[in-house]
This record gives sequence, structure tokens and C-alpha cells, in this order.
Amino acid sequence: MRYEEPRERSAELLRLALPLMAQQQAGFHPVSFTLWYEHVAGINPELSQILAPHADGQQPLTDNEAYNLYARHIIARDMQMLEHLQHRLRALLEEAFQITAQASDQTGQFERSLEQTQHRLKANVSLESVHAVVSELLSESQRMQVLTQAVVERLDLRAQEVGELRNALERAQTEALLDPLTGLKNRRAFERAVAQITAESTEGLAGAALLCIDIDHFKHVNDTYGHLLGDKVLRAVAQVLQANIKGRDLVARIGGEEFAVLLLRATQDGPHVVAEQIRAAIAQGQVRSPTAGTLVGAITVSVGVAIAGGGEALETVLERADGALYEAKRTGRNRVCVAAPVLRGA
Ligand code: GH3
Ligand code: MG
Ligand code: MG
Repeated sequence: MRYEEPRERSAELLRLALPLMAQQQAGFHPVSFTLWYEHVAGINPELSQILAPHADGQQPLTDNEAYNLYARHIIARDMQMLEHLQHRLRALLEEAFQITAQASDQTGQFERSLEQTQHRLKANVSLESVHAVVSELLSESQRMQVLTQAVVERLDLRAQEVGELRNALERAQTEALLDPLTGLKNRRAFERAVAQITAESTEGLAGAALLCIDIDHFKHVNDTYGHLLGDKVLRAVAQVLQANIKGRDLVARIGGEEFAVLLLRATQDGPHVVAEQIRAAIAQGQVRSPTAGTLVGAITVSVGVAIAGGGEALETVLERADGALYEAKRTGRNRVCVAAPVLRGA
């Protein structure tokens, strides 16, 4: 959503939010700021109810709690707004349709009255009758002109509103479906895209490979080099993922430092080769601290891979890939683990 507070008011909100943020464990990052900004601005009552008990710092919010609240109370709210806009757009189109239908009714009436006069002229052609018919026609066409003008004005108003709504809808859609930090799809957009792929194919996801990718010891990266560098790492990982997929394959940021990749067509060597390429590319990448300019130690990721069975739902493929990811973490990180294939009919 757009924040409408004028500049001075937003400066005041910043002053109010900062001391509240300082009471928490979570860092001074945009996610945390958004939460406390909306709280002090009083524009998100549900969120405020949850944040209020944390305001005195007795139960400080952790980073993970901040990210969860952000997903549930900021992203979800933007999604609701998107749905509301879609609803309004449908209602407007319906109104425009009704107006056009009324107009066509009125044109029909005008046509019938023209036919009647034509009939009368055939039967009776005295000068008086022609006069009478002409003045009737004149007033009828004036009435029609007024009606048409009214219809044009009403449609014009709707067209303007439709235009504005379309812009708002496009903005809301981008905000609600794209992760602003990396530009990747967010979890919701990923689920939608998978649902569309499943709906279009008779075999659903069968044979597609799902990769769950999680940055190793990311908390340590944040704690050591700061959130700004953490964010830079997230963007760099997103770029590597994007560079390693093709066609209709999907990539999304599905959690704070977790990504998902869906490879639709199994490659000749199998999906673990792509997973391994991704892992190696990230491990070889060099990240420089934006403040100190020094090189940061290698950033690595762990990857869990699961191949979807026939008719298997995204949720269970995700669970299996997550299980494999857990295995990769457990056995030392910076590695790829592949989940056991699903048994037929299981
Ligand atoms: P593991 O190897 O087991 O995955 O350890 P980890 O430290 O990566 O995992 P953990 O879940 O303990 O910590 C994840 C951290 O990711 C916590 C949070 O501060 C950080 N994080 C989540 N989203 C963002 C973000 O958008 N930007 C930054 N900079 N950090 C984030
Ligand atoms: Mg994680
Ligand atoms: Mg991690």
C-alpha cells in the first residue's frame, strides 16, 4: 500500500518508531521499521494489538518474529487490498454493462418510433401530417440526444475510474506478489504460478524438481557484517538462482533467507546437477562489505531437492524438499541432498 502521511508527519513517526525499535532484539531494518511505523501511525490496528505488549521492551521481538509479523500483517493486508480492488473493478464493469444495455433499450425504442412514423407517412401524406411527423421526429431525436449524452457521460466517468483502478491494481499486484528486496516472486506468487502450471497440464507437477535453498549461518552474516550486507547477499543469491533457470522454470523467495526453484523439465543429468551448479556458483561468489570494503568469507547455501510424483501436491513436494534441506544442514551444510522418490500410489 501507499503511505499517505505528509513528509513532516512521517518524520514525526520516524522519531516515535525509533525508540520502540531500539527496545527489540530485531535489527533496525526496513521490515522492523515498517512494523513500528504502521504501529505509531495507527494505520494497522490488528498489528498494533500484537505489537503493543512488546513496546516496553519487556518481551523484545526477535528477527524471526518481525519477519513473520511482516508476512502476516503487511503482505497479507496488501493482498486483501488487491482483492478489494479486483472486486471494485468487476463491479464497475458490470455497471458499464448495465448502462450500455439500458442505452441499447432506448435506441430500440427510438427505432420503433421511427418505424411507426414511416408507416404513418406512407398512409397519410397531407402537409399537416408531414409537419406533425417532422416535429415528433425532432423532439424524439432531441430526447435521444439527451439520453445518449447522459450515457456517454456516465460511461466516461466509469472509464476514468476503471483507468485509475487499473493503475492501482497494477501497483498493488506488483507490491503483493513480488519481493521488493530481490525482485523475485514471493511465496504467494510462487504458489499461484505453480497452481497455474498444475491446472494447465494433465500430469500436474509430475517429474518437476523442487529445490529448497537456504543460506547457511545467515544470522551470523547479519550479526557480523550488518543487515545491509545481509540484504546484498540475498540479492546476489537471487541473481545466481535467476541465472540458473530457463523457460517457464520458477524461482521465488519463500522465506527470509529461503528460496525455492521449480525446474519443470528434468534435465538430462538430473536436477541435482542444477542444484549443484547453484551451490557451487554461490560458494565461489565473492561478497564485499559495503562499509568496510573488505571481502566477506564465503557465503554458502544448503539445498534440498525433491522430484514431484504423479498427482503430488506442491505442499507435500515442499515438505519433502524441506526434509532433504534439513538433511543437508545436518550433514554439514554447503551441500545438496535429494529426497527419496515417492513410491507409486503412495
Ligand atoms: P542455518 O544455517 O541453520 O540456516 O542458520 P541461519 O542462521 O541461516 O538460520 P536462522 O533461521 O537462525 O536465521 C535466519 C536469519 O535470516 C534471521 C534473520 O535475521 C535473517 N533474515 C531473514 N530475512 C532477512 C532479510 O530480509 N534481510 C536480512 N538482512 N536478514 C534476514
Ligand atoms: Mg532458514
Ligand atoms: Mg539459513
